[in-house]
Amino acid sequence: MADIFDADIVCDACKTKTVKGEILKEGFKIRAWRCPKCAKIWPHPLDMAQYEDFKKLKQRDFEVKLRQVGNSWSVSIPKEIINFEAVKATKLVRLSLDNPGRVSISFTQIKRVINRGQ
Ligand SMILES: [Zn+2]
Repeated sequence: MADIFDADIVCDACKTKTVKGEILKEGFKIRAWRCPKCAKIWPHPLDMAQYEDFKKLKQRDFEVKLRQVGNSWSVSIPKEIINFEAVKATKLVRLSLDNPGRVSISFTQIKRVINRGQ
């Protein structure tokens, strides 16, 4: 299916052909068209919707259980986060102890690599 980002967009203010690029909001990549003449920016609607989902999720604080499984310990990642990260099957994630009392888990950003190279 063709993505809207494949389309060439002309600036409505000055009729100049826009250029494609990315803008970064809180570490979130949003594809966007930018007018090189008047610097107006049009973010990709799909990426903006994902960014809105991200902002809502970021505000939430989940309380999950920590339990022992054999020699390791396990935490449950809420399905909202799994859905957002587009996890479809068992996969490896990176886990590190950032600071005393703080562990972080990194997902590979599968869905945001799909439309690269444009
Ligand atoms: Zn313009």
